[in-house]
Amino acid sequence: MKGNVIILGGGACGLSAAWELSKHGYAVTVLEKESRVGGLCITNEFKGYRFDLGGHRFISKNRELVEDVRKMMGSELLTSSRKSVILLKGKVFDYPLSAKDIFLKMDMWTNTKAFLSYLVAAFSRTMFRKKDVSFEDWIVHRFGRTLYNLFFGPYTEKLWGISPKKISSDWASQRISLLNLKDVLFRLLKLKKGTPRTYAKGYYYPKKGIGQMFDIMGSEIEKMGGKIVLNAEVQGVIINPNNTAVTGVRYLENGVEKGIDCDVVISTISLTDLIKAFPEQLTANMEKHVSSLKFRAVRFLNILVDLPDISDNTWMYVSEGKYIMTRIQEPKRRSPFSAPEGKTSVMLEIPCNEGDETWSCPKEELLERCLKDLKALGLDIRDKVIDSFTTSVTHGYPVYTLDYVEHRQKLFDFLEKYENIITCGRQGTFRYIFMDIAMEMGIAAAQHLMLDKMSKRDSIHQMRSENELIEVTSVTS
Ligand SMILES: Cc1cc2nc3c(=O)[nH]c(=O)nc-3n(C[C@H](O)[C@H](O)[C@H](O)COP(=O)(O)OP(=O)(O)OC[C@H]3O[C@@H](n4cnc5c(N)ncnc54)[C@H](O)[C@@H]3O)c2cc1C
Repeated sequence: MKGNVIILGGGACGLSAAWELSKHGYAVTVLEKESRVGGLCITNEFKGYRFDLGGHRFISKNRELVEDVRKMMGSELLTSSRKSVILLKGKVFDYPLSAKDIFLKMDMWTNTKAFLSYLVAAFSRTMFRKKDVSFEDWIVHRFGRTLYNLFFGPYTEKLWGISPKKISSDWASQRISLLNLKDVLFRLLKLKKGTPRTYAKGYYYPKKGIGQMFDIMGSEIEKMGGKIVLNAEVQGVIINPNNTAVTGVRYLENGVEKGIDCDVVISTISLTDLIKAFPEQLTANMEKHVSSLKFRAVRFLNILVDLPDISDNTWMYVSEGKYIMTRIQEPKRRSPFSAPEGKTSVMLEIPCNEGDETWSCPKEELLERCLKDLKALGLDIRDKVIDSFTTSVTHGYPVYTLDYVEHRQKLFDFLEKYENIITCGRQGTFRYIFMDIAMEMGIAAAQHLMLDKMSKRDSIHQMRSENELIEVTSVTS
């Protein structure tokens, strides 16, 4: 066995790194604080029903990765296709939100306002060369204030819990590739041809939920000799006397303090927690950068329903602020094995902050609130509820405030001093990335180590950051 690599975190990224290294004969140990692997990609089973932490799907432009996953999963991997809608003002709109659909379904007054506000925005953007600083700027400059107020603004504020004025335009430019209004109008008037980028409908999904993919990957790693230590929460790192390398990791395993030596560390835990693992090195300035990077939590309400089906939609987006959830999902649309024969289920995504009112709301109260909201949205399932339970994540979304890039870079610069540590993954790079990119990052981290390219490891932080999306998403994932 080669090297002694410690991987912090057993989610999609950490396991992919361990998978790649194990294939090449490296001795890897994964330290995972939870009692199972998967991180954000786990699936909870309850009374014969299965719920992810927010319905996941696997899709990637990396053919090699797709092939490896298909080979690993065999017949356990299903192909599904998505159909998603937006519930807005009592109407059902296409997802991604298309301006054409809005024109056809909204009243004349709204359409006129939308058009005029677009003209104002386009004029002032050209005349005054306005810059996109915030999410609000980005949307208003491309779509006008009316569409912003109607959909993008309320949805974004609900998702992030802060004003879109305080959210970086990066989030919009990376996640939204809906055509701008001018393009849509030209197509409507047949002045422009060609197919706009369409969003990927097909995707892969394991029979037993997304968690099955990482349960299988975990078993593969162990079969190849890798070690996965569960209930092992990383507490700190040990550094050499020159302060240039990490020589070991301290962790709590089932409450017992332990330590492990290492040659290299691949960290996928949150960037801020990783920095806190270097307590002796933390200056007040560094602490300021750490405390400036925040994560948005999500609570999931999982409802078991005594009906065969609820709708044919994979996702239903709910933008209006008066409703508590951002998305409604029916897990059976991803895999028929998500619910017993003849039954279905509903999962609601409810963004919140750790410890706030929504986070600590008793389940019965939350259920009551959600059933009311669902009824108002045209989904009255109150009499059909068999049971329900909630799940939650503290690190659902990295919050892209206006200055997050600067704070994040300071933390990357700090880590750069230590030659044998790589930070990667969604939490480790503080980036809003999907599972496939987290997996690619893990594999890239492993390859940097194996190919002796540690000095170039910071390139991993920006992997796939080009504004080219696999799909056209008008909202988010
Ligand atoms: C609601 C929602 C829906 C999503 N839908 C999709 C989708 O449809 N498709 C898609 O591709 N992606 C989706 N994603 C994104 C996807 O979940 C992530 O990109 C991916 O799971 C990130 O993997 P990761 O390993 O980088 O991070 P994580 O999954 O967060 O893994 C980090 C791991 O580190 C562990 N850890 C943390 N601190 C410590 C510590 N101190 N000691 C030890 N271990 C620790 C955690 O327990 C966790 O297991 C979604 C995300 C959310 C929130």
